[in-house]
Amino acid sequence: MTNPPGAMPPLPERNRLMTLTAPRTIWLNVFTGDPDGEFPADHEGITWCEDEAGDVDVPYVRADINAQLIARVAELQAGNRRMRAALLEARRAIGDHHAPNDCYATGPMTGNPIRDLVECPACSAIAMFDAAIAAKD
Ligand SMILES: [Zn+2]
Repeated sequence: MTNPPGAMPPLPERNRLMTLTAPRTIWLNVFTGDPDGEFPADHEGITWCEDEAGDVDVPYVRADINAQLIARVAELQAGNRRMRAALLEARRAIGDHHAPNDCYATGPMTGNPIRDLVECPACSAIAMFDAAIAAKD
């Protein structure tokens, strides 16, 4: 079985004291002659340390410790895609709505007199939809 592109491969479970007490984060210390060049493919001049040693060093975090967070992020991203699809469908259901001619009030539904008697639910939903869709994920 192969992992999808960008997915983290399954990690072995290691509970030995050496592994459990290893640093949670490290810096990949890059000592090359050209700080504006690409990362050296041959890994020449690369080492690691718990501390940053230069301005081209690369921070790393332990994948095994953060596996649950990484999986949770993937779940949340999938949830966001489902919510976005639901929002698009709700916006499609509202259809064309031209204020003030198409506006309406719901009457007593929420107990909030402004929401129930003043705000047009379609205008509010469209404004919330526009803001949510415009936001960066
Ligand atoms: Zn309206």
